Amino acid sequence: MVGQLSSFTFGHCFVIRHLSLVILTMAITVPRPRLNWRERLYLPAIVAGLAITFKHFKNMVLGRTKVTMQYPEQKWDSSLPDHYRGAPALVRDEDGRVRCVACQLCEFICPPRAIKIIPGEIPTADRFAKVEKYPEQFDIDMIRCIFCGMCEEVCPEQAIFLRKDYAITGFTRADMVHHKEKLLEIGGVMHGVVLKWNERK
Ligand code: SF4
Ligand code: SF4
Repeated sequence: MVGQLSSFTFGHCFVIRHLSLVILTMAITVPRPRLNWRERLYLPAIVAGLAITFKHFKNMVLGRTKVTMQYPEQKWDSSLPDHYRGAPALVRDEDGRVRCVACQLCEFICPPRAIKIIPGEIPTADRFAKVEKYPEQFDIDMIRCIFCGMCEEVCPEQAIFLRKDYAITGFTRADMVHHKEKLLEIGGVMHGVVLKWNERK
């Protein structure tokens, strides 16, 4: 038994060593670039960098460019590009109904698993009973969120959108979790019918 164990271990060691040798022989050697005498002095690069710094300093002294913004009194809000992706938010429709139908597609697709949804059932007596589900709990952990916009892309109900909010702060990790109420507050009302659940269908 001891002999069998020894040969088994030796066999495995041999295979591992053999594999290591194969990997080593497959390694590619990348040649280091050869620096000329100017590059080896480093001084020209330092002078070029200082020249750029001096140019910015001169423009600032002459009032041609502003290098600082008095945040939060001044903000970039008006200069943000049209398709800027800020904080994700939930929206209500014109009737005040939360558009989300708790299908959990966004929770499934979210790469960093930032979304947590607990679906609830809409009572049969409710006006929107045919929708069947609503998000009883909908949380987005903004520490995890990477603003990729995949939740917005995947949502079949146009219920979640990335808004332009970027000033997302909090003192604790718990503060950074946006609950349903907060998400709806950021999102507001989105006009335009959601065809799937349209009363007129
Ligand atoms: S924007 Fe991306 S990371 Fe953030 S909640 Fe949506 S899917 Fe998740
Ligand atoms: S936000 Fe959209 S994708 Fe996410 S659970 Fe609600 S309806 Fe489904």
